[in-house]
Amino acid sequence: MNSDAVFDCLVLGLGPAGSSFLRLAPPSLRLAALSAPPGPLGKPCGGLLSPDAQAQLARQGLNLPKELLVSPQIFAVHTLDLGSGRGRHYQRSYVNMDRARFDAWLLSLVPERVQRFQGRAQQIRRLENGLFQVEYRNARAEMGRLWARRLVGADGAASLVRSSLFPGRQARGFASIQQWFPQAQSTPFYACIFDAETSPACSWAVSKDGMLLFGGAFPQSGCRARFERQKQKLLALGWELSQPRHTQACRVLCPASPRDFCLGGGDAFLLGEAAGFISPSSLEGISWALRSAEALARAFSQADPLDAYARATLGLRLELLAKWGKRPFMYHPLLRDLVLRSGLSSLSLLETPR
Ligand SMILES: Cc1cc2nc3c(=O)[nH]c(=O)nc-3n(C[C@H](O)[C@H](O)[C@H](O)COP(=O)(O)OP(=O)(O)OC[C@H]3O[C@@H](n4cnc5c(N)ncnc54)[C@H](O)[C@@H]3O)c2cc1C
Repeated sequence: MNSDAVFDCLVLGLGPAGSSFLRLAPPSLRLAALSAPPGPLGKPCGGLLSPDAQAQLARQGLNLPKELLVSPQIFAVHTLDLGSGRGRHYQRSYVNMDRARFDAWLLSLVPERVQRFQGRAQQIRRLENGLFQVEYRNARAEMGRLWARRLVGADGAASLVRSSLFPGRQARGFASIQQWFPQAQSTPFYACIFDAETSPACSWAVSKDGMLLFGGAFPQSGCRARFERQKQKLLALGWELSQPRHTQACRVLCPASPRDFCLGGGDAFLLGEAAGFISPSSLEGISWALRSAEALARAFSQADPLDAYARATLGLRLELLAKWGKRPFMYHPLLRDLVLRSGLSSLSLLETPR
């Protein structure tokens, strides 16, 4: 291998974390990025930009182009407990957007000087000379190899960087499934669904440009059957969930203890969901991807980047663990019932969509 083929840093994954890191990383570095080609619908996601993510984009000097928005923009979430049948509306100020277009927009902001490769990484090794070697397969099934002094794993919940280099540091998580349905009859809406019988996590339904996206997170074992059972309960309530146009599935992490985070080690770094940065209560991950990317980009200017990154993200990890502490009020059926009964902070709508 000649030395021109060796990059200072290779980023694996071009979701919000990888693209943002590359935009913010020190310009003196010779950077490369490898990412699997996105599918037509992009990453499975609710496509809701939380107030924290909006604030983080603002911090990074970014304004959302209107082409990323979908219709409608919804100001209330209908929280529904299928166990008790109770529901309430709460005010929310999420931005409803097209996730594939959002990722493509962040990618368009990656500087030209970053050398980009498309393909799926198959194997990651640390060589005896200290370099990282990544073997990948491109869309024509050809194999390629890349070498770098530093490796950044921004490759999401099922991170190959994390499983290859830190095999003892796997995080807990769920299997997530979502489907897209034509929505012809009902008023567009946004709902958050709890059903203790099928999942200890939440599900969501959100209208997007004439389609209804319904998805949830489920324990891995029997996940599809659990999803279908939950869907049947909603169908019985009259929801338009009978003819899915598309089905998507992936892993989603749910950090519950300090051990669920892994920042890296020995010139390999993890960020975004690969590191465990995602809310265990709402499964909101975009703001954490943006925040961890900024922290790592800044840390790369320091003498000991891993130490600087660990210090900069201590607050993030504590915030996420505090969100785990909030889970009983959302997920314990009795406590949730109390909250829903009380009507605390809820809106009373003149006309409810469901
Ligand atoms: C169903 C679902 C709904 C969600 N809804 C929301 C929501 O509404 N709002 C919100 O804020 N968060 C949501 N999240 C969480 C959010 O999507 C993630 O936390 C966020 O995308 C993490 O960003 P990331 O850049 O770390 O990883 P990702 O967005 O997962 O990006 C990883 C990148 O790595 C690439 N990659 C992975 N493996 C390889 C490989 N072996 N070789 C090459 N490339 C690879 C992928 O192609 C991708 O480009 C949701 C998650 C799920 C599962």
